[in-house]
Amino acid sequence: MEREILLLLGASSYHLGLDIPAPEGTYLYAIDDGYISFASWGAGGGYTIVLNLINYDNISVSYCHVSPIMFVNYGDFVSRKKAIGMVGPKNVYGIHNNPYKDSNGNPTNGATTGSHLHFAIKKDGKNVNPLDFYNY
Ligand SMILES: [Zn+2]
Repeated sequence: MEREILLLLGASSYHLGLDIPAPEGTYLYAIDDGYISFASWGAGGGYTIVLNLINYDNISVSYCHVSPIMFVNYGDFVSRKKAIGMVGPKNVYGIHNNPYKDSNGNPTNGATTGSHLHFAIKKDGKNVNPLDFYNY
């Protein structure tokens, strides 16, 4: 039920992930053990961290619109529940040719209208519903 409420509070229309409203600075944790396969600017996702899980076959977890201040680097091993980053600000500066802007023309942290976590899971490279992940 709690997870369904998170879905209903989604900040945007249906897309391949869950939007979880949260204030900037909210800590983000590894959902399981794995390796960081991306920790950088990710276009529409804004600053993005991707975690490849080691206890499952070909499952990657994306945390988008995060803070440019990350607690992990590409290639790091992280264990479950380790803090890896924070929910990012709506606006970010210093990205060359950032096409994403708000209504005031200020550059945004990817395709976003405000601070939130976009949380997505891919299995074999294809998006799956994160809420189904726990049923595997
Ligand atoms: Zn989203």
